[in-house]
Amino acid sequence: MFKLVLLGPPGAGKGTQADVLGSKYGIPHISTGNIFRDHITRQTDLGKQVQHLLSRGDLVPDDVTNELVRDRLARNDCAAGFILDGYPRTTDQAKFLKRLARITAVVEIAVPEETVVKRLSSRWMCACGRAYGLVSDTPRKRGQCDSCDAQLFQRNDDKPEVIRHRFQVYRESTQPLVEFYKGENRYLRVDGAGSIQDVTKRISDALVRHVAHVVG
Ligand SMILES: [Zn+2]
Repeated sequence: MFKLVLLGPPGAGKGTQADVLGSKYGIPHISTGNIFRDHITRQTDLGKQVQHLLSRGDLVPDDVTNELVRDRLARNDCAAGFILDGYPRTTDQAKFLKRLARITAVVEIAVPEETVVKRLSSRWMCACGRAYGLVSDTPRKRGQCDSCDAQLFQRNDDKPEVIRHRFQVYRESTQPLVEFYKGENRYLRVDGAGSIQDVTKRISDALVRHVAHVVG
């Protein structure tokens, strides 16, 4: 089964694709953000350490993140495969991951900057975590969450100038990873335009071709 890393700029639908692909292939979607939250909730030693760093506004160092991922990938549900989302972020992390698992492919969901700006600046959030759009994924009742009826709001970092900055940061920080995985013949780039189903199909097709190519 597939051992995947998903990359994509903010607004590319990376989390959604990771969920859909995880269900499709029966493998867990592993988000490092979720791992951090899980460890903090369970108040493990790692969780306490991360909580302390985050409460001071500090970044979580590579070795701490690496340990979190090592712990998660060692669980039984990852034996057949997994989808990593939010990790690795650096080539040092990618090298560490290489020692943990043989990655099938790194899939980047490519979306142009203008599309990201349009998508995110039309995004409305609910406190429960659901996100809605103005054009697609609209709520049934205007301005109100389908799940919990709460009033929707727009995030400050969904402002166009902030989105452009996040996009540049993503591109600059991801470039070394892309180069690393190109060198490993593991990098796949998939067009992120269109519906969720369109993108899922493109990713699946690219994976099938990639695996056939690697094996053949
Ligand atoms: Zn809600």
